[in-house]
Amino acid sequence: MRFYRVEAPERFRCSEPSDPKDWPYTGEYTASRKWGLPGVHCPACGAIWSAGFAYPCVDLSGVPEARKLEEPYLEEDFEEFERLRELVRPLIPAGGLLSPGSKFGPLVGSARGTFAQLFMILDDLLIRREALGQLRAEGIQGLEDCRTQLRFRQRQAPELLELQIEAHGLLHRDCIPQGKAVPCRKCGRYGFSLPNKPLLDRASLPKHLDLFRLANFTTVIVASERLVEAIHRLGFEEVSIRELPLR
Ligand SMILES: [Zn+2]
Repeated sequence: MRFYRVEAPERFRCSEPSDPKDWPYTGEYTASRKWGLPGVHCPACGAIWSAGFAYPCVDLSGVPEARKLEEPYLEEDFEEFERLRELVRPLIPAGGLLSPGSKFGPLVGSARGTFAQLFMILDDLLIRREALGQLRAEGIQGLEDCRTQLRFRQRQAPELLELQIEAHGLLHRDCIPQGKAVPCRKCGRYGFSLPNKPLLDRASLPKHLDLFRLANFTTVIVASERLVEAIHRLGFEEVSIRELPLR
């Protein structure tokens, strides 16, 4: 099985996308998520960071202190961060990664224009309902979807779903600078930037999922060969796809 990195087309990798004329879709949205864990100042490694990815399907409204998680902030007291994190843990999938700055809940905001079947803006991977049904019919596994709360002020608004992409699998230590392959034991931060030639650790990759993100570099989203073939077959060509070698 081969594996591929799925990314937003270049124009959507920054917060202010350019507007090239060759792009057939006009869709855009302004949205945020309701909850997030605070950032931390780690007492062990000294890093001040907040880099969590999103769990769009996780609703924290039943958490007693959810109000505290509605505004992003930096928590200087690491034990308080750990306490908040443990309040959230029962609500996320078992074994899930909870980093400082992890976000929860669907995208809430406004949207307009036309959207591709499957597309990515920044780190959000969105899919139209009919496209999700087509991928499932192709036998693609582990696509967990939830609704977005994007308000359209137009007729014929598409139904946009978001995929929750959990962390499984690792970059291989051979592509990570020496001494950096192990995270901080206290806060879990990895102190390296994305290698020029990322290499996947074959033994760490999940067998039951066709889409996941890497636990030691969570902005890298990986699709199996099965999913990429289905994407090509169905003509969902609006995401950028590049093979990642394995070792
Ligand atoms: Zn640390």
